[in-house]
Amino acid sequence: MALLPITLIGDKILRRKAKKVSDVDVETVELIKNMFQTMRNANGIGLAANQVGADKSIITCDLSVVEDYKKLKPMVFINPEIIYRSEEKIIMEEGCLSIPDIRCEIERPRQVVLKYMDTEMKENELEATDLLARVIQHEFDHLSGILFTDLIDQIEKKKLKKPLSLIKNRQLDVDYPVTVDSDYRL
Ligand code: ZN
Repeated sequence: MALLPITLIGDKILRRKAKKVSDVDVETVELIKNMFQTMRNANGIGLAANQVGADKSIITCDLSVVEDYKKLKPMVFINPEIIYRSEEKIIMEEGCLSIPDIRCEIERPRQVVLKYMDTEMKENELEATDLLARVIQHEFDHLSGILFTDLIDQIEKKKLKKPLSLIKNRQLDVDYPVTVDSDYRL
């Protein structure tokens, strides 16, 4: 296993739509293991493969560090698709390992249903609510090249201009490994 550098806002791969996985080969198994290690090391609860520079449609998620989700097992979603979004929406504060030290309140559907492949490439469905639904939507957006800072209003965006440019230029301290330039590719 290895800790992988996390891509930061400004890195091109974060803006690309991730490629579908056709089979879970040795390399993919290794990538998933590394994603879990990298995510936990950075105290994250969700990670998309393009956040470690891999152009693959994979999400890892582990909410067991959160009080109400202690019993929830770590999860891997391959080629995920959100097939239902509830009309009911809620506002929650979000952060992102690719946008260190910035948090924003984001409104999203409270509940979603996710269709995905497991590591045996078997198709599954998962109904998720509240925090789990939130993490799934945030990570699913990553695989489509969308970051949570795209979802805030113009006034908020203006306020973030300076802090985001500091991140893009690596003028901040991050306590986990990050990419050194915007062309990082696994
Ligand atoms: Zn994120």
